[in-house]
Amino acid sequence: MFVFSALLMKTVKWYNYQKGVGSDKKMLWGWGEETNKDLGPIFQHECDYCGSTGTWNLYIKRRWISIYFIPVIPYKKIYCAICPNCNSYIKFSKQEFKQMKLDIKSRV
Ligand SMILES: [Zn+2]
Repeated sequence: MFVFSALLMKTVKWYNYQKGVGSDKKMLWGWGEETNKDLGPIFQHECDYCGSTGTWNLYIKRRWISIYFIPVIPYKKIYCAICPNCNSYIKFSKQEFKQMKLDIKSRV
């Protein structure tokens, strides 16, 4: 009888564990959700990747920790210019980014 109930307890624990994993899945949280903020055109540039020449826009890329597919906490910020043709991008430092943002403002 004792062995049987011990076995039963084990089964219950295992069941709860499985249930726990299941409810974690239902939370649907994750990271890697990416948003792009367009700040306007900055220069004409020939893309190293696809070879086309076009007007590149300045962007802030943000990566988010998301819950239920809704971005909640940003954990990474990338300042960059994005190729209008193939979406590859050049990264900038914060300093370079600030300068370019000022350039855009002075042109408008
Ligand atoms: Zn390109």
